[in-house]
Amino acid sequence: LRIYINRIVENNNIAKGHIIVLEDITFIKSLEKMRRDFIANVSHELKTPITSIKGFIETIQENNIKDEKTLKRFYGIISEESDRLSRLVNDILVLSHLENKGGLNEKSESLDLNREISQIFDILKLSAEAKGMTLKLDSKEQIVHTFNPDEFRQMMINLIDNAIKYSEINQSVLVKISQDKEEIKIDVKDHGYGIPEKDVSRIFERFYRVDKSRSKEKGGTGLGLAIVKHIIYNNHGSIEVNSIPGTGTVFTVHLPKIRD
Ligand code: ADP
Repeated sequence: LRIYINRIVENNNIAKGHIIVLEDITFIKSLEKMRRDFIANVSHELKTPITSIKGFIETIQENNIKDEKTLKRFYGIISEESDRLSRLVNDILVLSHLENKGGLNEKSESLDLNREISQIFDILKLSAEAKGMTLKLDSKEQIVHTFNPDEFRQMMINLIDNAIKYSEINQSVLVKISQDKEEIKIDVKDHGYGIPEKDVSRIFERFYRVDKSRSKEKGGTGLGLAIVKHIIYNNHGSIEVNSIPGTGTVFTVHLPKIRD
């Protein structure tokens, strides 16, 4: 609680009374704590690949390693960890940009969503095919919506990429778009590992992973869904998750047509 006290005096300097304002700053404090936690987490997440890169370079130098096979393996790890570092920095920048701009969306344009999804499928086709997976689009009609194109792509890539990452081989991912008078609805459905009930409410938190080593192995940064959530909230929408462990997951994005 923050307290402000102001004395009210008359012309002759005699106190007439006091104004006491009590302000509940729980919310501000919790925001400050979230920010502190985020910085601590970011530092930790960045340190891990840096330590690994440094460690392998020092091992090569100090032991004067010349064996081709060992060198190749070590350079492979250094390269992977550098990619990881770069993905992390990129996601942190995207998230901080989304936070700073809030609801402002001056770069919005009219998007044909079916066309956008097909283009995103082209980008993700290689990683899907590498796992023998297929990407399917189910849409009955042309659906047009005003949205920032970079953000729409980022949101859909993160959701579809997760659907590919967290599925066994030879499965399919289905994206379904539909609309009614009020809203546009986009489902991203996979037949993957699913998410345990106790974790569902936490997966949109920054750096929260159900299985940390699995996420790391798949190249995850732990920020993908936090970015998705931000983009949707900046556009006055919402997202829900229905998941059955061992069966699959459906993420449903709701985008309102009329903004308040
Ligand atoms: P990451 O970079 O780890 O994928 P995200 O923020 O995108 O980070 O997702 C957070 C966590 O939510 C993931 O680590 C994973 O455990 C879980 N998750 C996200 N999407 C799915 C999905 N389609 N199926 C199963 N688990 C998922």
